[in-house]
Amino acid sequence: MDRKKIYLSSPTMHGDEQKFIKEAFDTNWVAPLGANVDGFEKEMAAYVGVEDAAALVSGTSALHLAVKLCGVKPGEVVFCSDLTFAATVTPVSYEGGIQVFIDSERETWNMDPRALDKAFEKCPQCKCVIVANLYGTPAKFDEIRAVCGKYGATLIEDAAESLGATYKDRQTGTFGKYGVLSFNGNKIITTSGGGMLLSNDSEAIKKARFWASQAREPAPWYQHEEIGYNYRMSNISAGIGRGQLPYLNEHIRLKKAIYNRYKEAFAELPMTMNPHLSCSEPNYWLSCVLLEKDCKVKPMEIIKILADENIEARPIWKPMHLQPVFSGHDFVSVEGDVGGAVFARGLCLPSDIKMTESDMELIIKNIISMI
Ligand SMILES: *Cc1c(COP(=O)(O)O)cnc(C)c1O
Repeated sequence: MDRKKIYLSSPTMHGDEQKFIKEAFDTNWVAPLGANVDGFEKEMAAYVGVEDAAALVSGTSALHLAVKLCGVKPGEVVFCSDLTFAATVTPVSYEGGIQVFIDSERETWNMDPRALDKAFEKCPQCKCVIVANLYGTPAKFDEIRAVCGKYGATLIEDAAESLGATYKDRQTGTFGKYGVLSFNGNKIITTSGGGMLLSNDSEAIKKARFWASQAREPAPWYQHEEIGYNYRMSNISAGIGRGQLPYLNEHIRLKKAIYNRYKEAFAELPMTMNPHLSCSEPNYWLSCVLLEKDCKVKPMEIIKILADENIEARPIWKPMHLQPVFSGHDFVSVEGDVGGAVFARGLCLPSDIKMTESDMELIIKNIISMI
């Protein structure tokens, strides 16, 4: 096939990234840390509106340090989003905690605050909650924060997919005590690989930086009093991030146009786009559709037809309560299994901002022909 593959979401570089990388080479600050790491942390903290940020090797490592900062101990329960990527919840296991999965609601596909409340009724001693903003759509934060407040639990917000999205005009990543970003290759901006931990608690961020640098004590020799990790972002990766950040708003604008193009094209068909609240503005990282119950095609059939055309579409994240690795973990819901239904009838459509109008026409034509 001569036409280039159409990706779900691939990196979009602008050239400015190389200026920062060149600077790192010129000053020989290629190794971890350096001016780009400091600059990227400050610039991102300012963009999102938090006091402090620690640049790390991945979103997963940021989630791990957030769980550690919450003081989760072996055997302790953590309430987690169920419909999400595994990295939202696996760091709980790194600390020996036990995930209890909370079902989604239908209005944003994110954690249902009613199910969260029900989980606390059963297990009021739970002191940590991890909520993810699925596909760039903010969760119901007023309600979720109210429930966390009622039970004195600390909220970790996994904003890996939602950088730049807002809820009631406030940036995602700021609704928990800790917020997490990812700059993996497929995210809305990238550092090739990387992540960030956000918080208004500068002492906590300082502690995270310490753990992320092998927990090396400030002594003239190599002194260690705690177990540490090699989690700090490299100065090269941070340079890529600094070059990308000024284009974040443009990426969001293009993602939104893709979402609206699909929405308009599918308006008369038995399917709906991934929903959001009117008080929130997603970053539209991935456009998804949910096929109605009586729709005759299955998501995997659409994915297959598009794959034959060299077009990448993907299933919805498989809910955590359906994952073999978490069999035996509790799953709390209030109306059946909302996440399971979204998984069964939904799919993620190509959302790459380098798509042309003719690419989109081809995708839409293929989908409409099947419905
Ligand atoms: C990508 C992602 C992560 C993990 O980020 P990495 O940088 O790949 O480690 C965590 N949570 C969600 C919801 C993600 O989509």
